[in-house]
Formats: sequence, structure tokens, C-alpha cells
Amino acid sequence: MLKYDYIVIGGGSGGIGSANRAAMRGAKVLLIEGNELGGTCVNVGCVPKKVMWQASELLEGIERDAKGYGIYPQGVDLDFKQLVDNRQEYIERLHGAYQSGLDSNGVEVLRGYAQFVDNSTVEVNGIKYQADHILIATGGRPVALDIPGGKYAQNSDQFFELTKLPKKPIVIGGGYIAAEIAGVMNGLGSQVSWAFRYHRPLRHFDEMLSYQLLKLYEEDGISTHPEHVPTSIDKEDDTYIVHFANGKSLKGDYVFFAGGRVPNVDNIGLDNTDVELSPEGFVVVDKFQNTTAQGIYAVGDIIGKIDLTPVAIAAGRRLSERLFNGQTNNFLNYDLVPTVVFTHPTIGTVGISEKEAIDRYGKESVKVYESSFASMYFALDTYRQQSRMKLVCVGPEEKIVGLHGIGRGMDEMLQGFAVAIKMGATKADFDDTVAIHPTSAEEFVTMR
Ligand code: FAD
Ligand code: NDP
Repeated sequence: MLKYDYIVIGGGSGGIGSANRAAMRGAKVLLIEGNELGGTCVNVGCVPKKVMWQASELLEGIERDAKGYGIYPQGVDLDFKQLVDNRQEYIERLHGAYQSGLDSNGVEVLRGYAQFVDNSTVEVNGIKYQADHILIATGGRPVALDIPGGKYAQNSDQFFELTKLPKKPIVIGGGYIAAEIAGVMNGLGSQVSWAFRYHRPLRHFDEMLSYQLLKLYEEDGISTHPEHVPTSIDKEDDTYIVHFANGKSLKGDYVFFAGGRVPNVDNIGLDNTDVELSPEGFVVVDKFQNTTAQGIYAVGDIIGKIDLTPVAIAAGRRLSERLFNGQTNNFLNYDLVPTVVFTHPTIGTVGISEKEAIDRYGKESVKVYESSFASMYFALDTYRQQSRMKLVCVGPEEKIVGLHGIGRGMDEMLQGFAVAIKMGATKADFDDTVAIHPTSAEEFVTMR
């Protein structure tokens, strides 16, 4: 039996973050990964998505926006295969960077799939490993579309295997991934139809963001289809026909579905432990990431709380500080986590929506400030894409409980505002901050 201080199952965002921090604090750490280092984010998530988003933004800028500045690019051509090859080379480099980071911290990396034997033992490739502390950070995978012909729908993992851009894709789903992939394909030149089952996409975000996104996507050539619940998919030669409960159907050469993710809890031997799962199948943890089994912890997508890379990393690092650096009260506060949706343009949000604020604090306590404007980027063009921003404030002191925006640069704007809001900023604090001109961000400190 090989003994360690800490065994981490899963070399994705949460696992690597926690393993490195534990080793930096002197623990003898074993990290077990069955696939590529970096997990979902690096291999089939944030990283390849952001590369595709950048390419799509760039092409949109050249083809749609450049002429306003008197720039008429000649012979613009997208070599999709080259883009994909370059993206994958970049991901290969990241694998190397993760491996050397782990090596330099002294984390031992074991390739293979781990299964629990009991609360303090796991088995990999027939060999047993033991530790008093074991972290489950096995992440999740895309949910399948469970309708007749659902097998024709490709998920996000498969999207990143494409070497040819679909001409007429149908995107199904109203969440982060569907919103992002619809925008990416449209920007790269596909003729996109986007169907979602609720009356607006991103239904957990402030309404303003959903409706403005729909407006801008329509202006940009995406045909959007609210209240479309998929019921079956047929294939005729190279054409897919998606049928919906409202009797309508859409035809295309590619069907993409993003309907949420399921946790990787099967096949890791949890039956041999005291780890409990929620009714939805996620690992149950307390605020310290303790599972119901002594010495077993869980972070990241496996707990089904906030599926974002920095959340998994932050929870994993704090756990290691608690276990191996005496910070006995260190835990991640899951409130006020900022998030960006990489649509075109981007959406940024931190805190609660206007509706949530009214439900929580009462209409009379909530004051909302809004701004709608065309970013100066569009000043010389006939197309004036409208950015929209909103501050949701509560109480007589007008504490800001929600900041929401959609527009160019929102992705890079949000982080600093999130710091202020996490520190408890009020509208008066924003008013007291001198604007930076000419930017879009200045709108947030000049709203009246
Ligand atoms: P993962 O990163 O999924 O890592 C889990 C690892 O465990 C995997 O490498 C897996 O191979 C391994 N594993 C599983 N079972 C075993 C086993 N039995 N033994 C050994 N290893 C095992 N988040 C953002 O913050 N920003 C974004 O822009 C963003 N974009 C995204 C785009 C897409 C298309 C997707 C799908 C996700 C995106 N996310 C984004 C979410 C982000 O990728 C996840 O929240 C994050 O990767 C979760 O980290 P994790 O450590 O919980 O799991
Ligand atoms: P989401 O949870 O964001 O959205 C799932 C969507 O799928 C919902 O709109 C839901 O509809 C819809 N849906 C579910 N089942 C069906 C069905 N049978 N038919 C039609 N629609 C269906 O999941 P995603 O898969 O988009 O993303 C997973 C997670 O990954 C996100 O929640 C996010 O945390 C993370 N992520 C983060 C990104 C970022 O930070 N930029 C980017 C991409 C992913 P309804 O609204 O009606 O319930």
C-alpha cells in the first residue's frame, strides 16, 4: 500500500489548484488523472471556447466593422482547419505548463482512473493508494439529448473535434454554452438558428441581458426561436430536421445541443465510501467542502453549485490551506461570484438580478439605474450596436447588490467592479469615482 498525505482524484481546474497548494504547504500529494491534464476547462471548455470566440470577434470586426474606419480588407478567408490546429497546439503547450507546475511543486502525477476501495483508499490500475485526506474533483460531462434522434445532436466536446465549419447549424439550449457557440459559429460565417425552450435564454440572468442579447443576435443574422422544446430529430441525406413541441421544425446540416452537465460520480466506487449524493446526483458537501465521509472532500463541478473554473480553483486552494496550513476556518464564500458569458458582445454579471432583488428586499427598497448607449467603437459606422448596463441597489444607502452589462469589453470590465461590490460598494461610492473617458466602463460610474 502506497501512502500519501493527500490524494486528489481529477487533474482539472479544482484538482490541480488544490494539489499544487497542498504540496506548496509541504504535503506529500498524489494527483490521479485518467485523461489529459487541465480537465474540461483546458481541453474542451474555457480555453478552446475562448480561442474560437476571439477568432469569431476578429472576423466580425474585419467583415462588419472595419469599413466604418475606411478599411476595406481584401480577400478575407477563414482557414477553419488552421484555426483548429493552432488552437490544439496551444492546448498542448498548456498541458506541458501544467505538468511542469506540478513537477516543480513536487506533486506526483499518476495516469489512470481512480476508484474508491474505502474512505481512505483508492485503487488505480490494480494498485492501492492510501491517504487520510482524499479530494474528489472529477468534474462533469455534457448531458445527452434524450429524444428520438437525439444521437444526431453534437455536444460541446464534439464541437471541438470539428475540422470544418457547419454551414447551417441548429443550436439547441438556452444556457451559457448554447449562447456562446451560437455566437461563435455566426461570427465565423455559419447561418445559425438558435432554439431554446423558455421564452428567453440565460433565464437565471437579469432579463435585460437576455432580451438585449436576442436583439443583437437577430441584428447579427442569427435566427432565434424562443419556446421551442425539441421532441425529435430526423436525418434525410445530409440534412437534419429538428421537430419541436409547438409543431415547428428547423432544418440544417449540423445540430448542437448544450443542456447542462452531469457529474462524474459513477465508476469511482462511491458505494465503498460514506459519501452521500444529492437527489440530482451531485456530491453533498458543507461549506468547508467536507463530504459526508470522514477525510473525503469535493470541489468543482462535482458539487453542482457554480460550475466555473475560478470557483473550482478557489475552493480547492482554500481547502488545502485549511488541511495543510492550519487555516482552520478557511472556506470559499460562493456569494457575489462574477461571471462572463462570451457572447457577441459579451455579457458580464455579478450579484443578483433586478427581479431577485425585488423578491428578496421588496420593490420599495430596490432602486435600479440603467444606461443604454452605442460604444465609441461603432461611432463611425451606420451600425450602432447598443450596449446596456444596469446597477441594482437596495436600501437607503443604495448598496449595490447587482451589476449587469452587455456590450463590447464587458468581459474585461467586470473584474474590477466585482472587487468593489464584494467590498460592499454603494451607488455613492460609484458616483464618487472619477470616470475614465472615453470608455464604456465609465457608464457604470456616471448613471443618474
Ligand atoms: P474538470 O475540469 O472537469 O476536471 C475533472 C477531471 O477529472 C477531468 O480531467 C477528468 O478526466 C478527471 N476524472 C474524472 N473521473 C476520474 C477518475 N475516476 N480518476 C481520475 N481522473 C478522473 N468556466 C469558466 O470559468 N469560464 C469559461 O469561459 C468556461 N467555459 C466553458 C465552456 C465549456 C464548453 C464548458 C463545457 C465549460 C466551461 N466552463 C467555463 C466551466 C469549467 O470548464 C468547469 O467549471 C471546470 O472545468 C470545472 O473544474 P473541475 O475541476 O470541477 O472539473
Ligand atoms: P446551463 O445550465 O447554462 O444551461 C442549460 C440549458 O439547457 C438551459 O437553458 C436549459 O433550458 C436547456 N435544456 C436542458 N435540457 C433541455 C432539453 N431537453 N431541451 C432543450 N433545452 C434543454 O448549461 P450549459 O450546458 O450551457 O453549461 C454548463 C455550465 O458550464 C454552465 O452552467 C456554466 O456554469 C459553465 N459554463 C461557463 C461558461 C462561462 O463561464 N463563460 C461557458 C460555458 C459553460 P431552460 O433554460 O429552459 O431550463
